Amino acid sequence: MTPVDLARNDFNAYLRLIKTLVKEKLRPNEHRLTHIDGVPEDLTQILRDHGLFAMTLPRKYGGLDLSTEQQVLLQIAITRASCVYRARFSTTVGLVCQSILQHGTDEQRQMYLPRLGSGEMTGAFALTEENAGSNAMAIESTATRIGDHYNINGSKRYITNANIADLFIVIAQTDINKNGANRISAFLVDADTPGITIAPIDKKMGQDGAPTAEIIFSNCCVPLSALISGKDGNGFQVAMAGINTARLHVACTAVGQAERLTEEALNYARNREQFGQAISEFQSIQNMLADCRTEILAAKSMVLETARKIKGPLDKSLRADISCCKYFATEMVCRVADRAVQILGGAGYLANHDVERLYRDVRLFRIFEGTSQIHQKIIAQHMINEEEHRFL
Ligand SMILES: Cc1cc2nc3c(=O)[nH]c(=O)nc-3n(C[C@H](O)[C@H](O)[C@H](O)COP(=O)(O)OP(=O)(O)OC[C@H]3O[C@@H](n4cnc5c(N)ncnc54)[C@H](O)[C@@H]3O)c2cc1C
Repeated sequence: MTPVDLARNDFNAYLRLIKTLVKEKLRPNEHRLTHIDGVPEDLTQILRDHGLFAMTLPRKYGGLDLSTEQQVLLQIAITRASCVYRARFSTTVGLVCQSILQHGTDEQRQMYLPRLGSGEMTGAFALTEENAGSNAMAIESTATRIGDHYNINGSKRYITNANIADLFIVIAQTDINKNGANRISAFLVDADTPGITIAPIDKKMGQDGAPTAEIIFSNCCVPLSALISGKDGNGFQVAMAGINTARLHVACTAVGQAERLTEEALNYARNREQFGQAISEFQSIQNMLADCRTEILAAKSMVLETARKIKGPLDKSLRADISCCKYFATEMVCRVADRAVQILGGAGYLANHDVERLYRDVRLFRIFEGTSQIHQKIIAQHMINEEEHRFL
């Protein structure tokens, strides 16, 4: 049975397979991800073969047909290895596949989803601009309709997988005379369309191997059929379909990485001796280990509880719950990473230990897919506006 068949028929056995993959293949190859611009092809093929590009799709598009709860368990398991592996497929399965699945026309779904799900195509999501970060409504890129096509102009920055993507979802203004969200639309743009330039890859604090770059669109001409859903003015609705899945998956990634960091810290504390005993015998080290485990359990419980509630389209209350998960889990993993460095002492600060790399990698999670401050804002606004207070 292939891993994809296993995922569809016996999820628990599939999860065990993924855990073995992490232990025997992905972790031992993590050193190959540093100081390079992407995940090597042989490792990417392993991710494809294990169905990881297909995790959010239904079977009719070649997907694994997983529930949201199963996706959460899978994301946590796979991110016990470097989160750079996950970045190789995350933009495809979250932002890109979900936007097409939930809002694409039948033709768009048929054309792209099977190829994205098999990993033959990599998707990237282009929303952020120089003057539009947290305030996505401030985008300035335009898509001007001229006869039977749109002309896209503008630039997008910090775009994950920009240099390797085959397909971009581009969010641009189709009517600059309108003020609201209905001036914004979403497009499917093949990466080889003339008028696209990818800038050199950004130098980042962490996550080597998960490239980001600026994309410049200059009179990039796409057919009317590139408009997602076939309608203009709903670009934000399209974007939110992918963003909510991506936010929950980032929360899972934070849990997986926190588990990994805690495992590293615990192993070190058991083996490192000072004052004639293992440092794990010191109460202050035990306090830090206990805080890690407690916070991981809290975050894991949150993401699983939220995932179980997701059965169809998300209402506002569930979107706020997803923000709670993303906010808490990503803040939590940074506290765990800080403790892990502290438990390792000097070894935690030196670049030859995994903990130093993981510490830098996880810092991103509080920034992308909505900063912590933006999630606080979403959560509080929902609390203030909701009349029934179902969260209480
Ligand atoms: C490695 C990486 C990968 C990325 N990948 C992608 C991608 O694939 N596609 C994509 O479109 N984007 C991507 N991004 C962009 C990312 O989503 C943005 O960086 C993020 O939304 C924050 O925007 P900004 O960087 O412009 O910060 P700003 O919005 O300028 O925020 C700066 C600070 O101000 C705070 N702030 C802003 N507004 C408010 C407010 N209303 N209330 C309180 N505080 C506020 C923020 O919380 C933050 O602390 C990526 C970014 C990085 C770093």
